[in-house]
Amino acid sequence: MTNQRFVFAWLVVPTLAAAGATLEAAGTTHSFAAAIATTALVVSFYFFDRKSSSAVATGTALPNPLGETRPADLKSDTAMIDPGSANEGTWEAPGTISDEVVVMNARATEAQIDSVISRLIELGMDVHRSSGVTSTVLRVVGALKIDPDLIRILDGVYEVLQIAEPYKLASRTFKPEDTVVTVGDVRIGGDEVIVMAGPSSAETEEQVHATAAAVKRAGAKILRGGAFKPRSSPYSFQGLGEEGLRMLRSAADAQNLKLISEVMDISQIELIVRYCDIFEVGARNMQNYTLLRELGHASKPVLLKRGISATIEEWLLSAESILAGGNNDVILCERGVRTFETATRNTFDISAIPVVKKLSHLPVVADPSHGAGRRDMVAQLARAAVAVGADGLIIEVHNDPDHALSDGARSMHPSQFDRLMAELRIIAPAIGRSICLDAVARRGWVR
Ligand code: PEP
Ligand code: MN
Repeated sequence: MTNQRFVFAWLVVPTLAAAGATLEAAGTTHSFAAAIATTALVVSFYFFDRKSSSAVATGTALPNPLGETRPADLKSDTAMIDPGSANEGTWEAPGTISDEVVVMNARATEAQIDSVISRLIELGMDVHRSSGVTSTVLRVVGALKIDPDLIRILDGVYEVLQIAEPYKLASRTFKPEDTVVTVGDVRIGGDEVIVMAGPSSAETEEQVHATAAAVKRAGAKILRGGAFKPRSSPYSFQGLGEEGLRMLRSAADAQNLKLISEVMDISQIELIVRYCDIFEVGARNMQNYTLLRELGHASKPVLLKRGISATIEEWLLSAESILAGGNNDVILCERGVRTFETATRNTFDISAIPVVKKLSHLPVVADPSHGAGRRDMVAQLARAAVAVGADGLIIEVHNDPDHALSDGARSMHPSQFDRLMAELRIIAPAIGRSICLDAVARRGWVR
């Protein structure tokens, strides 16, 4: 489009002006010739105005490569080129737009700058050039995603900076208002802090039913429980599979709870979707992109745990893989990351909660059980997570944790969970949120 505009401005406009002059010379009435010339003038002003305003916007919007703000130095010398066809290093990404700045070396030659511009154009990008006293920066915009490393390796390039987040659909820039994931009458990401609780794994009918009854009584809205377990050791209990799902569903239904359970592989999706209301993607599978892509087409929400060593950006990019498939119901879950510290199983990254709430519109829940790895610290972390703004919690509770087949040490006794819920009922209103108040009324807690 842009190129065509300039071709129009430079070729068509003078032609119209010349036609006006010729017509006048040929004896056509003066006013007709003047009308044609005026049209030519107006059209040319339109195009020149567009060109210069785009150049000014480019010059002032660009960060100075030296960290100084000197917009006056930036003489804008704008090249705007239509994106061509997709090339090696670019790919179509739904809803994404490249927005990068290429900072040239202070001593980059004109030939190097031209060659970088040519390469960007070849990759289908629009390029806006701004040259300051000491260096040149190129703003690169396009409807295709560009691999920054392809540009970093070019001669004369100092750095390629991303000026928008690499994830789009998950970002607040894309969707400023909070996403609320709805499961029946349960709303995750709204005013109410939603608590999911239950055993690490389903073991027996009695264990699942007793635990579901206990967490319901305390105020949980969603039963958690694993049927397919990702265990570090192949000799540990691996879960009961479909039998476990059946037990969990019947206990959830008996208590009027929703159900969340872990999916480890695409082959399990079809089975799990028949029993559960929410898929859990565990920390070890946060980068299982085949699974994430498939869940992008699933009909039920996905709780995506942060990977054991994942940065927040990697975590949000994984969420993006689900969102890109069309499933908008993604819930993020901070569950602790691996650090140099050995006193706790993981380091519960409490600051990740406000960071992610700022970067993304998706609900964020916290898993203090896997964060601490010890039941005597779960309540403290759970309280902190709610205070810091988590939209919910997912907590391991077992009716007899000392005899649990998985994660007994981090599973709370029902009485501990009960007390924690009572404490959360004091914390949540202090930050303007609610948390399952119906159980309070029923039990008459006064604190
Ligand atoms: C779990 O929820 O039982 C679990 C295995 O969690 P994570 O993936 O966080 O380790
Ligand atoms: Mn567990």
